[in-house]
Amino acid sequence: MQIIDGKKIAQQERESLQKKVAALSSQKKRVPGLCTILVGDDAASQVYIRNKQKAVESCGMYNVHYQLSHTCSEEELLELIEKANQDQAIDGILVQLPLPKHINEKKVIYAIDPLKDVDGFHPENVGLLSIGTPRFVACTPKGVLRLLENINYDLTGKNAVVVGRSNIVGKPMAQLLLNKNATVTICHKDTQDLAFHTKQADVLVTAVGKPNLITKQHVKREAVILDVGINKLPNGKLTGDIDFDDVKNHVQAITPVPGGVGPMTIAMLLDNTFLAYQIHEGILST
Ligand code: NDP
Repeated sequence: MQIIDGKKIAQQERESLQKKVAALSSQKKRVPGLCTILVGDDAASQVYIRNKQKAVESCGMYNVHYQLSHTCSEEELLELIEKANQDQAIDGILVQLPLPKHINEKKVIYAIDPLKDVDGFHPENVGLLSIGTPRFVACTPKGVLRLLENINYDLTGKNAVVVGRSNIVGKPMAQLLLNKNATVTICHKDTQDLAFHTKQADVLVTAVGKPNLITKQHVKREAVILDVGINKLPNGKLTGDIDFDDVKNHVQAITPVPGGVGPMTIAMLLDNTFLAYQIHEGILST
């Protein structure tokens, strides 16, 4: 059984990107720029955004951060996004979700220039992924695919099952697996007999948010398991959707939580920002 070391793989991705950023920005006399926007003072969101800012700077990119009050108006946020859309020093824009209830999330996502949408949430980028010509792909599913590539896993003809169908993880994940020629099943809350489906999986990706939802009874022998779920237990420890100890001797490879998919999400944000930079510098076409 192989434990897929996402922390190490993400570190390698970041180091390789740092070199590419250094080389290209000295040639172009401009560093890639990411604008981060946080509305309100949710503690978890503050931690996430700080980690993203640190990662951007340690990779040799430029970060400009806007902190807005939780009472700011939708208009104020949309104006700020428009300013960032126009700013040529900014390649990517990230608005930390969730937003306060009085702000329409959909309007905000639609307002971001699709060529600066490094989260990959804009319908133009979602559409490009679905027709098989991806540009910006949501960071977490992109990171999961990168882990599979890192262990040289060939998805062609494999049964892939994704549990969870959110716009930010489950759906783009399924699309990526389909683009790699896997036969894909998506499960959700209304799926009847979850184990029936998950037991068919050569590759199982869980993005649910329920600790120990998946046990040995749900898993085919020698499956490859990628656990996106992050759940905080009453004792303060983090765990995924998979009962790791129960399945670990039954599977071919598995990601731990923490230290599996999580670190790849930030690495892929950097990757997308560098991609946006290359597009804006005319090195890559859209
Ligand atoms: P959502 O709450 O948006 O989606 C959860 C999905 O799980 C839904 O599609 C829901 O189905 C499905 N679901 C819920 N219960 C069951 C069940 N019993 N059986 C089958 N499916 C079920 O969550 P996200 O996609 O945003 O995140 C999922 C998990 O991944 C969370 O734990 C989150 O913290 C984590 N996460 C981790 C990241 C990382 O970097 N590692 C990044 C993003 C998220 P339905 O649609 O029918 O309601």
